[in-house]
Amino acid sequence: MSKSLKGFCPECGDYVDFTSKEIVRTFDSKGISVDVLQKECFCCVCGAPVFNEEIDRENELAIFDAYKEKVGLLTSKQIKDIRGKFGLSAYSFALVLGMGGKTITRYENGSIQSRMVDFFLKSISKDPEIFKVCLLESGSKVLKEKEYQKCLAKVDRLISEKTKRQPFAKPLVAKN
Ligand SMILES: [Zn+2]
Repeated sequence: MSKSLKGFCPECGDYVDFTSKEIVRTFDSKGISVDVLQKECFCCVCGAPVFNEEIDRENELAIFDAYKEKVGLLTSKQIKDIRGKFGLSAYSFALVLGMGGKTITRYENGSIQSRMVDFFLKSISKDPEIFKVCLLESGSKVLKEKEYQKCLAKVDRLISEKTKRQPFAKPLVAKN
């Protein structure tokens, strides 16, 4: 069995099988308190709390996401979903948006984005034409040709779907 399926028990001093249960815990950050479901693991041999890297990471992400949700920021998963719409890797997506290559990866792993970044990500999600502006501006410089063309086709498809969904608003006609 791989180590990731086991947990480290400090009592037993070894990697052990464990059971887990979900517990709601309250966390405070910058005066904002959030209730978050956390998975806690216990040694099958002695019952002591055990440490598992993967579950620990999931727990941490859940705390950050609860905080982001509470303050009205996109969660890590929502950021991943927005990037997914444009079919780019986190690295390429960051470069197209003019960010450092690892920035989006950090947000997807829990880091809290600024309000301005958040607003921008929401804007490109709502309006793919804004993303297209970024892509036309920097995409051909920072992406490989094939990736660039694929992304451009995807964005154009999103734009045409959006246009179909929202036909031109009917002009207001006075009733009398
Ligand atoms: Zn133990």
